[in-house]
Amino acid sequence: MSYETVDCVVVGAGVVGLAVARALAMAGREVIVLEAREGIGTETSSRNSEVIHAGIYYPKGSNIARLCVQGRRMLYPYCDAHGVPYNNCGKFIVATSESERETLASIKARAEANGVEGMAFLSAAEAMAIEPQLHCTGALLSPTTGIIDSHRFMVALQGDAEAAGAMIAYHSPMERGRVVDGGVEIDVGGEQPMTLRARLLVTSAGLHAPHLARKIEGALYNTLPTAYYAKGNYFRLSGKAPFSRLIYPVPVPGGLGVHITVDLGGQARFGPDVEWIEEIDYEVDPSRGDKFYAAVRRYWPGLKDGALQPDYSGIRPKIVPAGAPAQDFTFHGPETHRIPGLIHLFGIESPGLTASLAIGDHVLAMTRA
Ligand SMILES: Cc1cc2nc3c(=O)[nH]c(=O)nc-3n(C[C@H](O)[C@H](O)[C@H](O)COP(=O)(O)OP(=O)(O)OC[C@H]3O[C@@H](n4cnc5c(N)ncnc54)[C@H](O)[C@@H]3O)c2cc1C
Repeated sequence: MSYETVDCVVVGAGVVGLAVARALAMAGREVIVLEAREGIGTETSSRNSEVIHAGIYYPKGSNIARLCVQGRRMLYPYCDAHGVPYNNCGKFIVATSESERETLASIKARAEANGVEGMAFLSAAEAMAIEPQLHCTGALLSPTTGIIDSHRFMVALQGDAEAAGAMIAYHSPMERGRVVDGGVEIDVGGEQPMTLRARLLVTSAGLHAPHLARKIEGALYNTLPTAYYAKGNYFRLSGKAPFSRLIYPVPVPGGLGVHITVDLGGQARFGPDVEWIEEIDYEVDPSRGDKFYAAVRRYWPGLKDGALQPDYSGIRPKIVPAGAPAQDFTFHGPETHRIPGLIHLFGIESPGLTASLAIGDHVLAMTRA
């Protein structure tokens, strides 16, 4: 059993852990990233819609609203500078009735309160002239929405972090820890078990974050959240994508409605839906596609029977149960738990990919507070 002292340990090499490691390393800190799996981004970071979100729907003043807008503003120039493929294709939020058309005004107002730029109303005729297969009574254009190659983005974050001296250890699960004088001691499992002593431990463990936090002796506190899982299933469209922008219906209570995203290869996907589950399980039940047809035909009457095929799924790392008010990105540092050198990230669901660069800066700022 070897024993080593390091400045910072980040647990998790998803997009958020990588962005945090990058920010810390570029600020001159010594960083080791512990990743349980064989590579970067094998969990939620490779099971999402790859949308660069504008920051439209989130409550004003929340971490999620602020970090989404800030992260998105950082992300496009970052992609340009690092050769990460993206398409600033824009998104339509479409109304299919008069009452939904009125809802568009409140969506626009909320987006503007969050600082989202360029939101514009389009008449039905204007929207349908731009996207001829669309059927709607009006639309809201979000010109700052886009899509990104999330894997290439993570490779770029990893490159920056490593160039600044960070090291990623794969097959290295953090198994447990204990609070000690001057930091946290961490037991790492895997093929080469070892114990590390870190001045700063940042847990960015996605779906596993609440469980992992409970495995740190001396760091249990009563606001530690509980993990809940909300799976999102996707169905892909065989054949060519009918739209060149992302098409979202007016949100329904509890979700964004069945929307269409397009990837950089031009493949259209429908979803994700919301399925609350007890255990992590990525299998897509084909019968869940049945209810997509009616929802999609409201704005795309051209959808043919049998055109949707089960695709992949991702699981939202929830920290509130079904039916509870929406959660925020949650950061627990010493001001929450009174333990120096420990920062937990909880509930980093969508738009965590978009917000990742801003989350990296946020965690760095927490270490300086
Ligand atoms: C269905 C769905 C759609 C989404 N769509 C979008 C979108 O279009 N745009 C957007 O901006 N966001 C989207 N998101 C959100 C985004 O994908 C996540 O916010 C982001 O990927 C979270 O990254 P992460 O690094 O926190 O978590 P993860 O990617 O899950 O990474 C956590 C890592 O920690 C590792 N780990 C866990 N426990 C340990 C341990 N004990 N020791 C060592 N390693 C450990 C895991 O192996 C994993 O690699 C979506 C999410 C879902 C579920």
